[in-house]
Amino acid sequence: MLYLLFDLDRTLWDFDGNAGRTYRAMFEYFQLQKLCHVDYDTFHNRYQVINDMLWDGYRNGTVTKEQLSMRRFSYTLAAFGCDAESPEIIRLSLKMADYYVFEGTKQTGLMPGAREVLDWLVEHQDRYNLSVITNGFSEAQLPKMKTSDIYRYFSHYFLSEDLGYLKPDRRFFDAVVHRLNVHANQCLVIGDDYRVDIVGAQAVGIPQVWYNYKGQARKSDDVKPTYEITHLLQLKEILDSY
Ligand SMILES: [Mg+2]
Repeated sequence: MLYLLFDLDRTLWDFDGNAGRTYRAMFEYFQLQKLCHVDYDTFHNRYQVINDMLWDGYRNGTVTKEQLSMRRFSYTLAAFGCDAESPEIIRLSLKMADYYVFEGTKQTGLMPGAREVLDWLVEHQDRYNLSVITNGFSEAQLPKMKTSDIYRYFSHYFLSEDLGYLKPDRRFFDAVVHRLNVHANQCLVIGDDYRVDIVGAQAVGIPQVWYNYKGQARKSDDVKPTYEITHLLQLKEILDSY
């Protein structure tokens, strides 16, 4: 039995498409153009930079989940002239945080080939056991897997909030291997994020498939992933020859 450990966002669930639609609806709903005097793209681009920065902090433990959920909005509003410390902006940011998670879970877009590869894998369930490994918020990850109808493919859902560690911390991957009661070499991690999914798996000796659909370059001193694909259907070829 091979234990496949799938990252969720941008590996199976089309995070950029889904979150983009949610974000655009939120921009309209809270009338942010009026409040911030900017167009959607400018606002959203700034948000992405701030969100990435806060996520780095969340992964290394300097930013809490509550701070991340609120500040990604309050800091973006502040970048366009609002006072991030004022009670109204804090209240608005909290509302945006709720809206974003709740509305986001209604989105169902998947990455190209995701459904086909999952269907193929469950047809061969004598050979493959499927789990999800994700850093995303628990209240978002399980509902969105259910609405997009991929929840049913998996036997285990490993959420960083439950394990107490975030990828790429090796303790996250150690905990997964331990809970599955298998050896690292009986697993295969599939993920889009080299620094988060691949480096973390390498640290505990789990073979990895880097789903590099963006065609990103690695730094010269980065360790080569075991496999690299640009489309999820290429996973079938890897597994057929495994
Ligand atoms: Mg990902």
